[in-house]
Amino acid sequence: MDTKAFKRALQHSENYHRRGFGHQEEVATQLHSEYQSSLIQEIRDKNYTLTRGDVTIRLAEAFGFCWGVERAVAMAYETRKHFPLEKIWITNEIIHNPSVNQRLREMQVGFIPVEAGQKDFSMVESGDVVILPAFGASVQEMQLLNDKSCKIVDTTCPWVSKVWNTVEKHKKVDCTSIIHGKYKHEETIATSSFAGKYLIVLNLQEAEYVADYILNGGNREEFLAKFSKACSSGFDPDKDLEKVGIANQTTMLKGETEQIGKLFEHTMMKKYNPAELNQHFQSFNTICDATQERQDAMLELVEEKLDLMIVIGGFNSSNTSHLQEIAVERELPSYHIDSVERILSADSIEHCQLNGNIEISNQWLPEGKIVVGITSGASTPDKVVEDVIEKIFELKQSPVTV
Ligand code: SF4
Repeated sequence: MDTKAFKRALQHSENYHRRGFGHQEEVATQLHSEYQSSLIQEIRDKNYTLTRGDVTIRLAEAFGFCWGVERAVAMAYETRKHFPLEKIWITNEIIHNPSVNQRLREMQVGFIPVEAGQKDFSMVESGDVVILPAFGASVQEMQLLNDKSCKIVDTTCPWVSKVWNTVEKHKKVDCTSIIHGKYKHEETIATSSFAGKYLIVLNLQEAEYVADYILNGGNREEFLAKFSKACSSGFDPDKDLEKVGIANQTTMLKGETEQIGKLFEHTMMKKYNPAELNQHFQSFNTICDATQERQDAMLELVEEKLDLMIVIGGFNSSNTSHLQEIAVERELPSYHIDSVERILSADSIEHCQLNGNIEISNQWLPEGKIVVGITSGASTPDKVVEDVIEKIFELKQSPVTV
């Protein structure tokens, strides 16, 4: 399929919407009351610090809702207002936050059911409204919805679209897109659907394996088995790695994406004449500012003397788990939770580990004076962060002594 031509045609269709419906002000008030927090604003105004009794909270200087997420949620709310009677669907979670997704369910927005790992669009009928989430949807899904004559509300973040444009550019010059991402993540699935030849690497280690194959060759069967779920159909490592370009899932660790880019640049310089680098390697900056700012703020925060860290965000949120990764690397006691309900008591907390397992830890809240670092992923409303902070104050039962 000519994905670029399809996308262009879709964007000119009267069934396609990506600029909202003129209800911005009304929706902004509603979003403010549902998701904003006066306590968080107060902490921001006090240099991101608040002390009550024995507890000092240190907030990361960039955290929570990014503009791409705010925009997507606002468009979903606007869609409900604009189409009060139509059936509305969303192809996936609008963002990775349980409370926001629950709120959409309450507004009668249906989530496309998934059966045995496959989305079932059979319930979607002609004329239904379908929202595409902030991290986008695959070109095949867009085509299916277009064929069904659905009204499509596309909330894909412009940063994600920028990555799609990048893989289109790779395709145009017959270059394989090396995508730094998780092959199962919705954004990476969408990005790879716009790519020609592609290979998805999860981390620097996998990238090094590929770079070594480029320079020294290796076991072809082992390579294909290793990336069986993470490459385009018919991928041939002996032919399809002569020209490579870098793309990324926007929520991966920025430093790692940069390292992977440098690794392939150096690899191609070694393998080919450095003067011909441009014919073998392409790189465009597609790291999202919001992800970068949250990671930089976390790196600063973990340099401070903290007794523990709380990282708040959906358990399937990639950018949140990367924030947690930074704390774990520093060997700081850090708990990734998705809502205040995970704090079971002053003694126990239910949290998500980096491997995705959910476990309960005891004695998580030290006695006496403590400094607690707090951050949250790009899909987390301030209100959720406020609830967690209030809970910590309550469990320490401290009188206010600001
Ligand atoms: S994290 Fe970045 S790419 Fe993702 S929605 Fe936010 S602004 Fe967009």
